[in-house]
Amino acid sequence: MPDVTRRGMLGAALAAGGLLGAAAGGDEKHAKDKGDESLPNFRFAIEAQRGGSAKEATVTEFPISRGIGGVSMRLDPGGLRELHWHAIAAEWAFVLKGRVRTTVIEPAGNYETKDFGPGDVWYFPRGHGHALQGLGPGEAHFILGFDDGAFSEFGTFSVTDWLAHTPSDVLARNLGLPAAAFAGFPKKELYITKGAVPSPLPPEPVAGSQKIPPQTHKYQLLAQAPRTFPGGSLRVVSAKEFPISTTMTGAFMTLQPGALRELHWHPNADEWQYIIEGNARMGLFGSSGRARALDFSPGEVGYVPRGYGHYFENTGDGELRVLLLFNSGTYEEISLATWLASNPSQLLAVNFHIGEDVVAKFPKGTSTITSKDSPRP
Ligand code: MN
Ligand code: MN
Repeated sequence: MPDVTRRGMLGAALAAGGLLGAAAGGDEKHAKDKGDESLPNFRFAIEAQRGGSAKEATVTEFPISRGIGGVSMRLDPGGLRELHWHAIAAEWAFVLKGRVRTTVIEPAGNYETKDFGPGDVWYFPRGHGHALQGLGPGEAHFILGFDDGAFSEFGTFSVTDWLAHTPSDVLARNLGLPAAAFAGFPKKELYITKGAVPSPLPPEPVAGSQKIPPQTHKYQLLAQAPRTFPGGSLRVVSAKEFPISTTMTGAFMTLQPGALRELHWHPNADEWQYIIEGNARMGLFGSSGRARALDFSPGEVGYVPRGYGHYFENTGDGELRVLLLFNSGTYEEISLATWLASNPSQLLAVNFHIGEDVVAKFPKGTSTITSKDSPRP
């Protein structure tokens, strides 16, 4: 794998994003998109970017996504996403495929080295230094999320970039080496580079070899027993389940063919989505008569600004799997069905110009995910 620069990636991303952004209102692939185009585009084909092993969806490529940015990253065995930190965002990740090792340090001096496999999540608080390494066998593929859509261009600080722009006599004093020792160091930011596959970690860190932080950075999301519903399932990891994740909540949602993730909104957070498998339609309501439904395929990213009403349908023949990300450590939602069921029937009758006999047939609360066999008129 050649070194990948972020500048190079940005060019490719702009080419892809511009194209897809313009076409999002009605391209051939998504001919059934419909609704009000005064609502900003909320779909971005992150995997359609050309080249590179890190494909970004930031405010540059996907303007609506101010609150959450994402990266689809791949590392070959021995591939290294070099030491860096994010000045303006925390980092959350979900491993789709392969194995990854992470290192992370905290200001108190505690540090942790952990291995991650499919279904595992990591969280690094804003500003904490970290690195990622592909362990093999085969490519590792993971989705990164950041709680600021501008995290990349203005907020990522890489160790090679820093050292390349520091006088070598200062480095010599700081690191106790002759200035000549730095002659072979990279002259600019490496971003991703490649070396040997690292050795396995000992099953338990040797006593005293690590300063284990009080809160681990690892959570096994797919090992969590899901909440199951008539039409699918949901696993949620907030700060309640994963205490270090104070600014982000993640979720893994499945919908069976024809199932509906009911109308709802999130009072406290934006929502970012990555379609892992299957086909979906997401409807978004943005107030003032603005509503739009877009179709999504695997590798596409969706975005719901805080407070916007939305729903998901599985429009395909197979299971729909979606990764969800919220920029709050507290998970909150209000469903339409629960809201309606919480009001007096007389009020609802007046509100909708219907009789209380019709109100009596409303659901008594949310089903969260209804199946295709749910009663339909
Ligand atoms: Mn990072
Ligand atoms: Mn939602």
